[in-house]
Amino acid sequence: MIDRKGIKKILDYDREHVWHPYTSMTNPLKVYPVESADKVRIKLLDGTELIDGMSSWWAAIHGYNHPVLNKAVKSQLKKMSHVMFGGLTHEPAVGLSEKLIQITPEPLTRIFFADSGSVAVEVAMKMAFQYWHARGKPDKNRLITVKSGYHGDTFFAMSVCDPVTGMHGMFNNVFPEHFFAKAPLCGFHDRFQESDIHSIRSVIEKNHEKSAAVILEPIVQGAGGMRFYSPQFLNRLRRICNKYNLLLIFDEIATGFGRTGKLFASGHTDIAPDIMCVGKALTGGYMTLAATLTTRDIARTISQGISGVFMHGPTFMGNPLACSTALASINLLLSYDWNKKIKTIEKGLGQGLAPCRDSKHVKDVRVLGAIGVVEMEEPVDVGKIQEKFIKKGIWIRPFGNLVYTMPPYIINEKDLKTLTRAIKETIYETGK
Ligand SMILES: *Cc1c(COP(=O)(O)O)cnc(C)c1O
Repeated sequence: MIDRKGIKKILDYDREHVWHPYTSMTNPLKVYPVESADKVRIKLLDGTELIDGMSSWWAAIHGYNHPVLNKAVKSQLKKMSHVMFGGLTHEPAVGLSEKLIQITPEPLTRIFFADSGSVAVEVAMKMAFQYWHARGKPDKNRLITVKSGYHGDTFFAMSVCDPVTGMHGMFNNVFPEHFFAKAPLCGFHDRFQESDIHSIRSVIEKNHEKSAAVILEPIVQGAGGMRFYSPQFLNRLRRICNKYNLLLIFDEIATGFGRTGKLFASGHTDIAPDIMCVGKALTGGYMTLAATLTTRDIARTISQGISGVFMHGPTFMGNPLACSTALASINLLLSYDWNKKIKTIEKGLGQGLAPCRDSKHVKDVRVLGAIGVVEMEEPVDVGKIQEKFIKKGIWIRPFGNLVYTMPPYIINEKDLKTLTRAIKETIYETGK
């Protein structure tokens, strides 16, 4: 075991030299050094054990150090960890493609592997542009989306993130201009209000000739606000997209693989997108891998365009280690009654977080599937609140005024209770 001095050395070096997501290099928030992680527990170097409430940003749905996934990595490692995908193919990529095509909405039968969610989003947008280009409409080169979205950190993906939280002000002269409608207001369980669709309909009516596609996160807006909205919004939107010749892109990078109570969030609707991105939980949190799926027609149209090819090809495309792990992760998910498990978590989160509503610092509490959100009236002091969470033995990382949790699906009732109780107590303590 590493001693205090050893831990300090790691942290000092980290603080001076290593960038963390969205952090300052001059005034960084505290980071916690991890020794290992197993099932739903993250173990810090000083021996502290934390119940994981984040699934490492939606990814580790089966928990950590899972024997089935470990085995998939090990057995693939014996064959090859990687070969280039240009001109070569392999069983892991083909097997995973077959599985993904089988479980995603029916029209999606052509697949492109990317190395991260942001790249999968870039690929989706490029597909849409190349599609219209091939159809002789190169002027359809903008996108339509809704506010409060999040689609990744690369520039084009960032340009369709929420204009405020996506820091558009800072990059105004770098971003291409896209068209933003109001975010859907109707909650997931609310009766749908037709007025909810008015904003995006009028944005589409005005800009469809210049636009290639509508891109949005179905049902759950993740890092842009943790909002859950009505499936009817998407049903209506599909019809409007058809009418105005727009492709519909679903970014299911956060929602995919059961998190919302359906295998994919589109499963709450009656419709299918033309292009869909998956990532995050794809490999069960083991490795970075994402994919963009589309229809036969779009793939063929692109291939019949001027370039004759789809213009994208990452170095680590279709990485065999990642593909084998992803296939094992999906099979693992489908091997048990995941739906029932998500329902149990949904109930536990609902009951456990409901009392937060009584705090005057809390604006809203909402739960969908294995996602629980406590929206505070004011932004939280992340450093301070995190210290309290750690003292109570849980790992939660809030942002802005959102304290939220999406635990690994394997979490048991006792740990889930501890998790929600710790969130509730901490929320009551802070702000006083
Ligand atoms: C996380 C996320 C992305 C970006 O994925 P990365 O792997 O971080 O690049 C894109 N879209 C949504 C909806 C996400 O939640």
